[in-house]
Amino acid sequence: MTQRVSSQLEIFQQDAAAPDPWAAFRQVERITVELTQRYKYSLGKVSRFFLELERGRFFATTCGGCGKTFAPPRPLCPRCLQPTKWRQLPGTGMVETWSTLHFSPGSNADVRALTPPYVFAYVLLDGADTLFPHLLKAPPAQARRGLPVQVAYSEGAVSHPIHLMYFLPRDPKEEP
Ligand SMILES: [Zn+2]
Repeated sequence: MTQRVSSQLEIFQQDAAAPDPWAAFRQVERITVELTQRYKYSLGKVSRFFLELERGRFFATTCGGCGKTFAPPRPLCPRCLQPTKWRQLPGTGMVETWSTLHFSPGSNADVRALTPPYVFAYVLLDGADTLFPHLLKAPPAQARRGLPVQVAYSEGAVSHPIHLMYFLPRDPKEEP
């Protein structure tokens, strides 16, 4: 237990003249504790999106009513309230906006493995009407609005299936 102590604090009473009812509890110990939780999570109606990523294909959904294409996919059009249909996209697009992250939120092993600073971009994919926020593997200095990008697929195991893909800068002269 002693190896886990990260710091000890002595919290003193401000008014030293008054009797201190908490005198026996003034020493505060802070420890570092690792917490791990495993649970089953259903990817539900968007499961096909992740299954296709495993096959190296990028899928969105399109509303039969208004024709709007959602990437990330939505099973239901929020405007028409109609179920959508799956549709493959080429996986090319352009950065609309981005953020440079100087620390990793560390929400899972995939994210913890990233070396900051890294780029998180909102990409408008060709054929889509919504922005797709995800990791752009490019130097922060290269990130700009209008940067052509393409979906790339991870090799090897990932902690969360969204990390089966990421974005890479693309030479617009080279069509996929
Ligand atoms: Zn619609």
